[in-house]
Order: sequence, then C-alpha cells, then structure tokens
Amino acid sequence: MKHRKSLFQAALLLALGLAGAHAQAPAKTPVAPPADAKMQQFITSLMQQMTLDEKIGQLNLLAVGFDVTGPVVSKDVDANIRKGLVGGVLNTYTPVAARKLQALAVQESRLHIPLLLGYDVIHGHRTIFPIPLGLAASWDLDALERSARIAAEESAADGINWVYSPMVDIARDPRWGRVAEGAGEDPYLGARIAEAMVRGYQGPTNDLTRPETVMACLKHFALYGAAEAGRDYNTTDMSRQRMYNEYLPPYRAAVAAGIGSVMSSFNDVNGIPATANRWLLTDLLRNQWGFTGFVATDYTAINEMEAHGLGTEKKVSELALNAGADMDMVGEVFLRQLATNLKEGTVKQATIDQACRRILEAKYKLGLFKDPYRSVTEARAQATLMKPAYLADARDITRRTLVLLKNDKQTLPLKNTVNVAVVGPLADRAHDMIGNWSAAGDGKQAVSILQGIKNVGGAGVRVTYAQGVNVTDDEPLLKRLNAFGGELSIDPRPAETTIAEAVQAAQGADVVVAVVGESQGMTGEAASRADLGLPGRQLDLLKALKATGKPLVLVLVNGRPLALPWEDQHADAILETWFGGTQAGNAVADALFGVYNPSGKLTMTFPQSVGQVPIYYNHKSTGRPYAGVLLDKYKSRYLDAPNDPLYPFGYGLSYSTFTYSKPVVSQATLRPGQGLDVAVTVQNTGGYDGAEVAQLYLRDLVGSSTRPVKELKGFQKITLKKGESRRLTFHLAADDLKFYNDDLKFVAEPGGFEVYVGGNSRDVQAASFTLLP
Ligand code: BGC
Repeated sequence: MKHRKSLFQAALLLALGLAGAHAQAPAKTPVAPPADAKMQQFITSLMQQMTLDEKIGQLNLLAVGFDVTGPVVSKDVDANIRKGLVGGVLNTYTPVAARKLQALAVQESRLHIPLLLGYDVIHGHRTIFPIPLGLAASWDLDALERSARIAAEESAADGINWVYSPMVDIARDPRWGRVAEGAGEDPYLGARIAEAMVRGYQGPTNDLTRPETVMACLKHFALYGAAEAGRDYNTTDMSRQRMYNEYLPPYRAAVAAGIGSVMSSFNDVNGIPATANRWLLTDLLRNQWGFTGFVATDYTAINEMEAHGLGTEKKVSELALNAGADMDMVGEVFLRQLATNLKEGTVKQATIDQACRRILEAKYKLGLFKDPYRSVTEARAQATLMKPAYLADARDITRRTLVLLKNDKQTLPLKNTVNVAVVGPLADRAHDMIGNWSAAGDGKQAVSILQGIKNVGGAGVRVTYAQGVNVTDDEPLLKRLNAFGGELSIDPRPAETTIAEAVQAAQGADVVVAVVGESQGMTGEAASRADLGLPGRQLDLLKALKATGKPLVLVLVNGRPLALPWEDQHADAILETWFGGTQAGNAVADALFGVYNPSGKLTMTFPQSVGQVPIYYNHKSTGRPYAGVLLDKYKSRYLDAPNDPLYPFGYGLSYSTFTYSKPVVSQATLRPGQGLDVAVTVQNTGGYDGAEVAQLYLRDLVGSSTRPVKELKGFQKITLKKGESRRLTFHLAADDLKFYNDDLKFVAEPGGFEVYVGGNSRDVQAASFTLLP
C-alpha cells in the first residue's frame, strides 16, 4: 500500500500554503502503513475492553536497571507491568531479560498487551560504530544505512524493538556536548542522513513486522541543538523562518521517510517547552507534516516543566497531553495525574484514547500482538551479536569516517619499516574508543589505537609507547566522568616527569604519533565545554614533542569540533578519528599506514577560537561583510580574531589530490518551475587511488529575505584511480531554488543565482544563472 495524504491533510497543507514544501524532503523510502482498517478494528475492540487506568498505563514508559541517563529510576516495574500500568520499558536487553519482562506483560497482565522495549542504540548496539558526527563525516549514505541496519539486527536479536535514534538536531555550537550525537550543521546533509538511518533501522520497506527491524525514534523534537551558549538543556529561541529553512528539514525528512515515533525535547522553544508545545507537536508535526506515529517525551521531560516554571505536576500533565505528547518517559506524571485531569475536565477522554491508540498502533505495526517476543532466542543472539561480518563492516565503515586535516610533506602514510613513538593519553584507551551513548557496547572489546598500530604495522614496525600526560588532572571532573561509565585513571606523577618520558620515546623514533583529544565522557549529554582546546596538559605535551624535531602526527580523538590553532600550525599531519567504535584502532592504523586513503569531510566547522562560536558555513551576509582588508574598521569582524574558521564545513584531505574543472550550467536562464544541470570534471591528480566528496552549493543572490552565502544542495562521493577523471552532473530541481519566505511560504524568487562546486565549502568555483519572473 502506498502512503497517501488524506484529503483533509492535503486541504490543510494547501490552506497553509505548504503543499509544495513536501518536495523539499522527498520520501525516498516507500512508506508502507500496515493494513490500516484491520489494525484499527483490532485496536478499537481491544480499547473497548480497557479501563481508564489501563489506557493511561499504555502512556507510561519506565526505566529499569542501572541507569545513567537521568536522575530518576523507576520503582515497582514488575508489579506495575502485571497491573497493566506500563506501556513500555527502556534499558532492558538480552534475550533472557527481554523475554522475562515481555512475559510479565503478555502472560500476567489482564489484557496481555505486549511492551515496547526501548533502548539508546545510537551508533551501534554491541558492534559499535563511530559516533554519529563521525559517521556523518563519511558523507556515505550507504555506509550510514548499513551501520543502522547492523544496529537494528543486533538490537532486535537482543530483545529490543524500539531505538532512540536518529538524533537529527542541527548543531552550530561545539560547546554543546551532544553535537557528537548528530550529523552536524547542515540541513540538507542532515536530511539525507536522517532518511538513510530510518531506512537502516526500519528496513527498506518500512515493514516492522520483520523481526530484524526495530522502530526508530526521531529526536530531539525540536531545536535542542540550538541551546543557548551551548549549555545542555538550555533555552532555544529562534524565528520561524530560521526554523523552517535551517533547523527543521532533517526532522521533516525522517517523518517523510516513515519513522514510527518521535521524542519531544527537553528545551524551551520560543517560550514554550517542547513537551508542552502544541504548535510543535500537533500543528507542525501532525497537521503540516502528516506524522501518524506516537510522540514519547524525553526522560522526565514532563516533570521538568515544573522547573521550567509552567506550574504544578497536575498542570504540566495536562499541558503535555493536550500538546500532543503520547508517552511519558519515566516521569510517571501521566500515571499520577491524568485521571484527575480528566475528572476536572482539563483533558478529554478522547485525547487519552488517541494517545493510547497511537501506542497500540506502534505495537501492532511491530507485530507484537502476533509475536511479542519477535523470535528472540539465545541462539539467534549468539549467531548475530558481533559476528565477524559485522566487525569487518565496522572496520570498513570506520575508515570512511576519518578526516585528514593536514598532511605536510606527505608525512602520512607511514612507512611499514618505521620506528614509531606512540604517545598521548588516548593511545592505549580501548574503552574510550566506543564513545558516548555506546549502548551495550563493551569497551574491552574495542581495539585501541596503540593496538591497531601494532596489528597493522606488523613485524617491520617498532613501537614505543608513553602516555605523556593525563587527559585531565582535574580530580573532581574525573570522579564525575567515572561515575557515569568512564574508566579514567590519573597517573599521579608530575606532568614534567611523564612528558620527559614521552620525549625520550620520541627521540628514539623516526616519527611521533600523538593520540590526543577528549575522553569518552567529555562529550555527549550533559558534557558541554566552555573551552574548546585540548583538555589538561596535552598541549604542553605536544610542544615538548615538537621540540624534538621529529615529524609529529596528531591523531585526534574527540566528539566535537575543537579549536586547535597551535596544533594546526605545528603538527606535520593531523588525522581526525572521532570516537571510532569497536574497530577504531584497526581502522585508524589502516589510514596511518596507507592501507586506506582517508576520504572523510567535516560536517561541522572547526573554529580557530571559542569566541567565534557559533560559526557555520551557511551564514548570512550582513550589511558590512568583511573581505579581509586589514584596515577596514567598520566591518563585521573581530578585533582579535579572524572571521575564517580553522577548517571549513566539507573540508578533508586525501593522500591524493583532486582538481575540479569550472562548473558549467545547462541553461543560463530558467523559467519558473524548471530545473537545471550543473556539470564538472573531477580528476585525481595525485599519486594514490582515492575517494572524493564533490559538493554543490547554491547562493540566491537577491531575495525578499536575506539568504545564506552558500547552501549545500547536492554531493557525490566518488572513487577515482590515480590519473582518472570523471564528468559529474548534479541536478538542481525547481524546488532546490525555494526557501521559506517571511510568510513561511515555500517560494523561488526570480533573479540571479550562483552555483559553486568544489571539495569543501570554501574552495569552490562558480557559475551563474537567472530565474526568470
Ligand atoms: C536523552 C535522550 C535519551 C533518553 C533515554 C535522555 O536523557 O536526552 O537522548 O534517548 O535519555 O535514555
């Protein structure tokens, strides 16, 4: 069955002037809602048997086990499941545990309604892939989809039916620790990645009855990535125009791709917290975008609206339900308050019924009423989890995420006969490699970078190791990080002693590989940083290593753009490796030794200093743009820092080099509704076979509203043998020229446009065309 807009929805879209907007986020995945009528019949008859308490119970999501995600842990979970007061549980996995819990619901509760079993499967389940910001840097939609498919297969085999991913929050402020969880700063790329992830989790036909799929959950709706000052959970406030053009496209793309659920975010959106925001959860998400799944809140987000200042628990319960939140994550506010809300007339029976129905629909779509256990067995888990093919995929996918930021005098790749000093606090840290939100991943099963260098370097490579310095010497910080899953220890000796040790190792080597950055717990949720340099004494270590005169290769391990001006100036080579997951060490070593030629490109701008933040490539012009003339005073610029970033969006080098011909447009003038082609030839002019991400940007030169200086509108990742060249054609459709104007109409305005093509957002060549009135 095809997904069709209902007549009512179509009429509504037309009335809102938004009908055309759908084209901006095309649903590449055929959305296949299950046999609607049968499902509705089944649910209607089930709901006729349900008491009010049982209906409210379906809206209740509890957490079990050791919980690191929030301040509250649920009590009496088993007893409440038996009473029919629980709709879903998070944080349970393994076939035994999942079956046990599900059995409580389907055998011991009055109506035998199965549970949703949710978990934060963010970048892999047992086989851990690079953090999402790293995965995005691959610009490889097939690889991203593959990572989500493996995560789905593993988590489904482990008893999970619902995953809290993809996180698609656009983020422009690297102080925010959760930039690690998303795809970066660009709405176009973010939208394509959101679609790929939904396909990976829910399967290419969106048939969730297949036991190897899981229902995905879009988060965090919405605008969580715009938290002021990059401080987690902070306020967001922005114009609707900015939302529609710059922040909402990835959420909308995931909805169009048929995602089954959405998570409302913690933050305040223009004065109304997302979880009580009816405009967001109902007008936009359902009425304008046609979302038909269910909305779960984030962890205790309803309760937290008391601290936001929206009123008592009773009041925030009413606000959340009436706004469109269907399921209360862990807070148990609905459980405690909805019956009273109903009695007092502040919520309607129909609204409770509707929320309950949506959750039951999700269970039906997952096939839970037919097979609540989704064929989960010990044997299936054993044959699936971390199987060799997945580990091989992880190594392959991880290599694609590595970004070569600098490589002077071809310092890299390393020779296989080298004597290498591997130093730095993250070199011998398998645990850190799996990064934040590493679900059921086990850091002990990950390959450290030191180990990877030994594995790939082989017998010809001599390795000397020294830690050099601690990631941090800040004891209270260390305690906090370790309390939440970190395994950091501090070498108590003075840094001068440990640095001297590293210098000695460097002096005896041909080349120094310094593995520096952030520990796993320094990124992710509740891990905002006000400083974007290397933590602790790591820069002192690098300065001492530099003074040895040996070639200095930096391997960065981190979950956000860092400000590294000294490092950029003084290191001979820099390889950005993120938190690379289970196979991190092997994949990084493959790149260091040239078994693999790096091809990743940044999806977030790296600043020169924290004072430039927020910094992003698709900014507006201003009335006084600064063009780099030193004595220009009254321009939009800093006195003490440049405007330019350290590394721009889309940037990343290769061991080879690629040259681009000037782009050629198929037509110099367009009539309204027409599209055009842009052609370029890319040539591999270096000494290695390699892959390149050719990027197409657009600028609308004149508009009724100010327009960004550049916007990504297309990209192609291609592999070229040395010497090989290829003609690429990008198609710009009529809708690619459109934007949301001040009345939120999706329009293309006549006038001049420029297209740019190149290997990053800065180094591009231009062509132009005109859209006729
Ligand atoms: C996070 C979500 C996560 C949830 C459940 C929250 O603290 O914001 O991203 O899915 O916990 O663990």
